Amino acid sequence: MKVLVAAPLHEKAFEVLRGAGLEVVYSEYPDEEKLVELVGDVDALIVRSKPKVTARVIEAAPRLRVIGRAGVGLDNIDLDAAKKRGIEVVNSPGASSRSVAELVLALMFNVARKVAFADRKMREGIWAKKQCMGIELEGKTVGIVGFGRIGYQVGKIAKALGMKVLLYDPYPNEERAKEVGGRFVDLDTLLRESDVVTLHVPLLDSTYHLINEERLRLMKNTAILINASRGPVVDTEALVKALKEGWIAGAGLDVYEEEPLPKDHPLTKLDNVVLTPHIGASTVEAQMRAGVEVAEKVVKVLKG
Ligand code: NAD
Repeated sequence: MKVLVAAPLHEKAFEVLRGAGLEVVYSEYPDEEKLVELVGDVDALIVRSKPKVTARVIEAAPRLRVIGRAGVGLDNIDLDAAKKRGIEVVNSPGASSRSVAELVLALMFNVARKVAFADRKMREGIWAKKQCMGIELEGKTVGIVGFGRIGYQVGKIAKALGMKVLLYDPYPNEERAKEVGGRFVDLDTLLRESDVVTLHVPLLDSTYHLINEERLRLMKNTAILINASRGPVVDTEALVKALKEGWIAGAGLDVYEEEPLPKDHPLTKLDNVVLTPHIGASTVEAQMRAGVEVAEKVVKVLKG
């Protein structure tokens, strides 16, 4: 059986595929024309967020039985076309949870201790000791909005740090809440009582601009907002106002309404915000886990 890997994967993922006796063909991000050419005789296709697996590609692959996506989102795959043909689509949704959670903590510490600001000043030759008064995280309350895979990992680390944990999720998992010493409350209570608010919800109609002007105004003026979920969960314009006018103390962001973040975006002018370029899942471990998990799932489907 033959599998086409159409995006870079960790070497261990290739070992899984070859170890299962599959013939592996590799092509890095082929365009649609090339992909149509390549899928003619493959039983499986593995992609990442690219390339696009369109209905045309699926039509051109009469033997295709499974599409693997190393990572989470499936928006580059025509799921209807796959379903019509009875092709299974598998992914690796939990592979990056720990990595995202650790980035969230990196952002929390960074904002709390003004690390990025201090670093910028040092490079300008400025010893900004007086401007770098920070806060400790121990004993502070973290509010986790969306207590799924990543929220849970954040909760575990926060508990270990001696933080109090508040949770908001329309589908509360009480057992996991107990594990992180957390308590479910309504969103407004969480926003009012937390020293750090961190967002871990999917982007849905119901979470679009979940954090808007009204909700930012509920937060403490000493609070920190972290967003490593999806950019549109936060109303950016309102956030810029909140950071400028001191409704909240700071923010750490990994995701944006527009990505890449435009060079002269107002966020880049603020000292109380730490910005990273959507790197939550960018670790060696997450990439390896994503590749291996999806390779194992593909093998499982092909071997029945
Ligand atoms: P998940 O599905 O495991 O958890 C999401 C949780 O949010 C669920 O428990 C769900 O019940 C809850 N939820 C749904 N609607 C809600 C609402 N209106 N209010 C509060 N909670 C709500 O997802 P996950 O794997 O933990 O991922 C969370 C987010 O992180 C997603 O937006 C995902 O796209 C994003 N993500 C970002 C990166 C990155 O690089 N920064 C990497 C991976 C995932």
